[in-house]
Amino acid sequence: MKKIIVPLVIVIFFTACKEKPEKRTAPAESVKEATETIRDTVTEKPEKEAGPALLSLDGVEDTAFVRLRDYSRDFVYDMKYATEDNFLKTKVYDCAECYVRAQTAKALIAANRDLMEQGYRIKFFDCYRPHDVQKKMWEIVPNPQYVANPAKGSIHNKGGAVDITLVDTDGNALDMGTGFDFFGKEAHHDYTGLPDEVLANRRLLKETMEKHGFWSIRTEWWHYNLTSASNGKVANFRWECE
Ligand SMILES: [Zn+2]
Repeated sequence: MKKIIVPLVIVIFFTACKEKPEKRTAPAESVKEATETIRDTVTEKPEKEAGPALLSLDGVEDTAFVRLRDYSRDFVYDMKYATEDNFLKTKVYDCAECYVRAQTAKALIAANRDLMEQGYRIKFFDCYRPHDVQKKMWEIVPNPQYVANPAKGSIHNKGGAVDITLVDTDGNALDMGTGFDFFGKEAHHDYTGLPDEVLANRRLLKETMEKHGFWSIRTEWWHYNLTSASNGKVANFRWECE
C-alpha cells in the first residue's frame, strides 16, 4: 500500500506546483490589460468631449446673437452682473451667460486661439447686455466716461463689446493692476504708473484683441469693441436660464 501512495502524492504535488504559477500569471495579465484599457479610455477622453457637441459658426449670419459656450469650450466665464460682485451691488442677470453677435464670436475664438498658443485664455466679465440693464447702470453712474448713455446705447447692447481679462493655464487671472469696473485713472490704458508685469499683461491683451479687429476705450483696460459689430442695433432680449 505504501509504495502506491507515495508516488501518487509526489505526482499530485508536482502537478499542483506546475499549475499554480500558470494560474497566477493568467489573471495578473488580465488585470494589467484591463487596467491599461481603463487608463487609455480615461486619457483618450479629454475634458473637451464632456457635455453636448459644439455647434459650428459656419453659415451663421454675422448679426445673429449666439451663446458663446455653444461654439467653444476654451473660454473662462466670471459673469459679474449675474452676481452682486459689481459696481451696482445688485444681481442684474438672472443667470450667467455670454451672448454676442456671431461675428463677435468668430473674432473672440480666433483671438483666444492666439492666446492659448502662449498659455493664456480669455475670461469674460460681461458680453451682450440688455438695453434695460444699461438704463439701470446709467441711473447709478450717469457718467459717459464709464457707462454709455442708454439714449444711444452701449456696444454691449449691440452684441459687439466684451469685458475681459486673461487667465493662465491654471485659471489664475493675470495681474491687470485694478479690478474689473474700477472707475479711476489706474484702469486707463495711458496710465503707466504700474509694474512692468502689469503693463505687459495689458499690452498682450490689447495687442491680441486689436489684431483680431477689436478696439479699446481709453478708460477701461477690460473693455473691447469689435469694429465691424459696433454699428449693430441695440437689443433688449433676455436669455433663457436653464
Ligand atoms: Zn464694457
